[in-house]
Amino acid sequence: MRNNKEIRHLVLPMSYLISTPRVVFDTGVEAQKELLPLGEDAVKNNKAGVKSTLLVLVVGETVRAANWGLSGYERQTTPNLAKQDVINFPYVVSCGTNTEVSVPCMFSALGRKQYDEKKIRSTESLLHLISRAGVPVTWIDNQSGCKGVCKGLESIDAKTLGTPDICPATGCYDETLLRGLEATMKKVSGDQVVVLHQLGNHGPAYYARYPQAFEKFKPVCASSDLGRCTQQEIFNAYDNAILYTDYILSKAIDLLKAKETRNVVFIYVSDHGESLGEGGFYLHGLPYSIAPKEQTRPPMTWWVSEQYIKQNQFSKECLMQRAKEPAHHDNLFHTVLGFMNISTSVYDPAWDLTAKCRK
Ligand SMILES: [Zn+2]
Repeated sequence: MRNNKEIRHLVLPMSYLISTPRVVFDTGVEAQKELLPLGEDAVKNNKAGVKSTLLVLVVGETVRAANWGLSGYERQTTPNLAKQDVINFPYVVSCGTNTEVSVPCMFSALGRKQYDEKKIRSTESLLHLISRAGVPVTWIDNQSGCKGVCKGLESIDAKTLGTPDICPATGCYDETLLRGLEATMKKVSGDQVVVLHQLGNHGPAYYARYPQAFEKFKPVCASSDLGRCTQQEIFNAYDNAILYTDYILSKAIDLLKAKETRNVVFIYVSDHGESLGEGGFYLHGLPYSIAPKEQTRPPMTWWVSEQYIKQNQFSKECLMQRAKEPAHHDNLFHTVLGFMNISTSVYDPAWDLTAKCRK
C-alpha cells in the first residue's frame, strides 16, 4: 500500500482516512512552495478582424466512454448533446485512473508520455501559462479543488453559489457550475478561459449526483454500498448521472450560444473512467499499468462556434475526421494553446488535435 499510491484509493472507506493528512499537507508545506515557471515566452497572437475567444473547459468526473451515448453506448445517455452540433471523440485515453493523478497531468506539458508526478506538481500548469500570456483564467469547482493547477489564479467554489434546491445534504448538483459560468463570462469581454470542475459521476453514490427528474433508468442502486445492489441497479444509477451531465453540458452550450458574441470553444473531457463490476472491479484508481480500459477511457466532446471556425479558418470536416482517431489527455495541453492561439516553446503542434485542421 505504501509503495503504490494509486491502490490507496481503491477501497473507499479507507480513502477518507488516507486523504485527510494529504489535504493538510497540500495546504501546508506544499502550498507555500513557489511553482517552477512554464512557458515564460508565452504570447497571445491576435489577428486583425478576429474576435476574442472564450474557451470553456469542463473537467468531468468518473464518466467512462463505454456509457457515453454519443460514443455508441446502447442506451442514449446523451440525448441533449446529440441535438447540438458537437464533435465527439470516442477513443480517448486518460492520463490517470484517479482525480489526484489525472487533473494535474491533464494541465501539464509532460502528460502521461513523460509522466513525473513530482515534476508535474512542482511546475506551473497550462492555466498559469495562459494567464501569463494575458488571458484571464477562472477555475469554478463543484468538487475537491483544482489539485494545484489553479494555484494563485481566480477560483470560485461553486458550492457557495448553490441554493437549497440544488444543494441537498449529499452535495451540490453541477447546476451550480452553470451559475458560476454565467456570472464569470459576464466579467470579461476579451479572451478568457473558464474551467468547470464537475462532481459528475463521483461514486459510489451515483444516485445522489442528479435530481429526481433525471431518474429515467430504474430501479437504481440507492446506496453507497454497491455490494447491496444488483449490477443493473448500479448501471441504472450511473447512467442517470450521465443523463444529468448531458443536461448540464447542453445547458452550458445553450448559454454560450445565447449570450456570447465572442468566438467560443467548449471542451468537455472526463478525468478517468470507472469500473462497474467488470472483472470483479468497482470504482477506479487501479495502478495505471494494470488498470482495465473501463477506468482509462473517458469521453471527450467539443462544441466550437461557427464564428470561431470561420474567423480562425478551421475546417470543421477535418475536426470531425480527426475526432474519429485515437486521442489522449496528453493532447489537451497543446490543443488548448492551439485554440487560444498562444505561441510558446513548450507548444508542440504534433500533440495539438486541431493543428492539421487550419486552412
Ligand atoms: Zn476523478
